[in-house]
Amino acid sequence: MSVFDNPAFDAHEEVVFSCDADSGLKAIIAIHNTSRGPALGGCRMWNYADESAALADVLRLSRGMTYKSALAGLPYGGGKSVIIGDPARDKSPALFRAMGRAVQVLGGSYTVAEDVGISVEDVEEMGRETRHVAGVSSGGAGDPSPATAYGVYMGIRAAVAHKLGRDDLRGVTVAVQGAGHVGAHLCRYLAHDGADVLIADIDNDRAKRVAHDVDARLVDVDDIVAAQADVFAPCALGGIIDDRNLARLRAGIVAGSANNQLAEPRHGQALKDRGILYAPDYVINAGGIINISHEGPDYDKSKAFGHVGRIHDTLLEIFRRADRAGVSTAEAADRLAEERFTHPRPAAAAAA
Ligand code: NAD
Repeated sequence: MSVFDNPAFDAHEEVVFSCDADSGLKAIIAIHNTSRGPALGGCRMWNYADESAALADVLRLSRGMTYKSALAGLPYGGGKSVIIGDPARDKSPALFRAMGRAVQVLGGSYTVAEDVGISVEDVEEMGRETRHVAGVSSGGAGDPSPATAYGVYMGIRAAVAHKLGRDDLRGVTVAVQGAGHVGAHLCRYLAHDGADVLIADIDNDRAKRVAHDVDARLVDVDDIVAAQADVFAPCALGGIIDDRNLARLRAGIVAGSANNQLAEPRHGQALKDRGILYAPDYVINAGGIINISHEGPDYDKSKAFGHVGRIHDTLLEIFRRADRAGVSTAEAADRLAEERFTHPRPAAAAAA
C-alpha cells in the first residue's frame, strides 16, 4: 500500500495511522491542507474491502474538505478520518474512546465530526477523550445532516433555475439515492416544495419509511440511477458517476450530498459532454460544515441556515463561470476554490 505514490495523494500535510489493540481500532486520519485554518472533517466507519481502499477514501475525502471549506469561505483546512470496520457489528464505546485519543494526539490540527456509519453519539463518545469534536449535541450545533440536506435542497433549486429556468420545484421529479441522515431530510424539503420524489435505499425499511413520510415513490436500488427524473440526487456513497452509470443516467441534473460522486476526475467533463448539469459535490454538500462554523453558546439556527442557503448563489456563480470558460462545472469549482487556499507544489515541480 503506497502513500506518497497513491493516485489520491495530493501533497497532504499529514497522514496518521492509528491502532488500538484493546478496542480493535484501526483508523487513518488525513490532513490535506491547513492554509486556511485547522482541519475539520467527519469520521467515516466502513467495512472497506482492504486497507488500500480505506487509504484512498480518506485521502480523497480530506482533499475534498479543503476545497469545500475554501468555497464556503470558512476558516478551516481539509481533513477527514476513517475507521476500518463494520458499523453494524464493530462499534463500542472503547473503540470511539480510542479514536478520541488518536484525535487528541494531533493537538487540535484536526477536529472530528460525524460521517457515514458514525452517529452524533459516537462523536460524543470520542469527545470524552478530546475537545476537538464538532457537530455534537452538548455545546455544539448537533447533527449536521439537516443543514447538509437544506444546502442540497437549495443547490437543487439553483441547478433547476439554471438548467430549466424554474424558480420552484413544483412538478420537478427528483430521484434520491439513499434515505439516510441527509437523504431523509432532503426528501422532506423536496416534497414540501412540490417536487415528485423517488427514493431508493439498500436498507429497504429506511426507504419505505421515507416514502411513507413524504408520499414518495419507492424505486428499486438498481433502477434509481436510470430513473426517469429531472434531477438525480446521490445521497449514499461516492463514485456513483462512472462510465456505466453515466450511460444509464436519464436526468439532466446531478445534484446530491454524497462526497466524491465522480469515480474519476474525467467524469466531470463527461457529464458536461452529455449535457448534464453537475452541482459539484463539495459545494452543494457544505451545509453541515457551514452549520458547524456557527457552533458556540450564541448558536442561532436561523442565522446558520441563512448562511447555508448561500450555497444557492455560490452554485449559480460556478455554473455561470463554467459556461463562460467552456469548462465543466467540476473544473470551474476547483479553480474558484484554488484561488482561496495555498497549495504547496510537489517538490519536483517546485525545484524545476
Ligand atoms: P447515512 O449513512 O446516514 O446514509 C447513507 C444511506 O445510503 C444509508 O441509508 C445506506 O443504506 C444507503 N446506501 C448505501 N449504498 C446505497 C446504494 N448503493 N443504493 C441506495 N442506498 C444506499 O449517511 P448520510 O450522513 O446521510 O450521508 C450521505 C452522503 O452524504 C455520504 O456520502 C456522506 O459522505 C455525504 N455527506 C453527508 C453529510 C452529513 O452532514 N451527514 C455532509 C456532507 C456530505
